[in-house]
Amino acid sequence: MPSGVINHYKDFLPVNEKTPIITLDEGDTPLIPAPYLSRFIGIDVFLKYEGLNPTGSFKDRGMTLAVSKAVEDGYKAVICASTGNTSASAAAYAVRAKIKSVVVIPEGAIALGKLAQALIHNAQVIAIKGNFDAALNIVKEITKKYPLALVNSLNPYRIEGQKTAAFEICDALGRAPTYQAIPVGNAGNITAYWKGYKEYKAKGKIKDLPRMLGFQAEGAAPIVKGYPVKDPKTIATAIRIGNPASWKGAEQARDESRGLIESVSDEQILAAYKLLAEKEGVFVEPASAASVAGVINLSKRGYFKRKAQSAPKGKLTGQAKRKAQIVCILTGHGLKDPDRAIQSIEKPKVVKANVEAVLKEIKFS
Ligand SMILES: *Cc1c(COP(=O)(O)O)cnc(C)c1O
Repeated sequence: MPSGVINHYKDFLPVNEKTPIITLDEGDTPLIPAPYLSRFIGIDVFLKYEGLNPTGSFKDRGMTLAVSKAVEDGYKAVICASTGNTSASAAAYAVRAKIKSVVVIPEGAIALGKLAQALIHNAQVIAIKGNFDAALNIVKEITKKYPLALVNSLNPYRIEGQKTAAFEICDALGRAPTYQAIPVGNAGNITAYWKGYKEYKAKGKIKDLPRMLGFQAEGAAPIVKGYPVKDPKTIATAIRIGNPASWKGAEQARDESRGLIESVSDEQILAAYKLLAEKEGVFVEPASAASVAGVINLSKRGYFKRKAQSAPKGKLTGQAKRKAQIVCILTGHGLKDPDRAIQSIEKPKVVKANVEAVLKEIKFS
């Protein structure tokens, strides 16, 4: 059976008979109901768990297409700047394509799991004494002159592949959600989802479009502030970006959908991170929890209630008549950043190796 997002959504993607399909069976991730959050917010909340892609993040959706097209175009190597997940994905797909991968990362700012992935797949990993934005500038310069395919989300094929997640959500719900919440870093993903929803509407697959709700980390919130941030800071390393490549695309998604892009604090991100693990049974990396942190903030301000009431009485249009739904995009798996998880919880207690000692801890005796 053909698998992966290219095979599944060929008609919506820029591929032809000559495109070699480099796939690890990405996509088709679950849309998990979130009963705790739904009760808390008063609207049905679903979690699009992108951490279940082959390398543990949504980057695989874009990478399958970017690497397939790079091979079609005759490239023998790919290069990217990365906060971690792009490099993990590029490295794995380059292995499948039997080509070389080079990744440029900010020194010391990559979660351990992601670095391990790039290394185990034999990527050439080069750490720079600078941040992600500097790394991206370097690879942009290099790819202008040398035969390496750039596989950052500046590569339009990345956006094309990533838009398939919007298709999957609509296919699962039978319509677009009322709201879609998403973390925003380099802003490729919010751009991709919005493109996906608009294409599905143009093809008549859905009637209404969602409101796009984007969330940046407070210390790395250039789009919220309206100017680039020189030294972005947040524990959510995947969205620690001061000058997003798809800035315009994010603003377009926000404005055309009459949504918003706001910031969330690291404390709020960590609270949502723990809530997802403790109340919903879903383990994500910190950046992914930004979408849930943002939705909780909006809910506390009455945003979802006000929106429901502001629909004109008597002549409710399509979307407003039906029950509202929120889809939160959970971009990456919790195992990517084990250090953060261990710092967020109490260390296990050590007791003597006998039944009584263990029972005493369980408090059954
Ligand atoms: C890449 C990434 C993001 C940010 O996505 P952008 O397209 O850069 O906005 C968020 N979360 C995770 C886990 C990521 O890997």
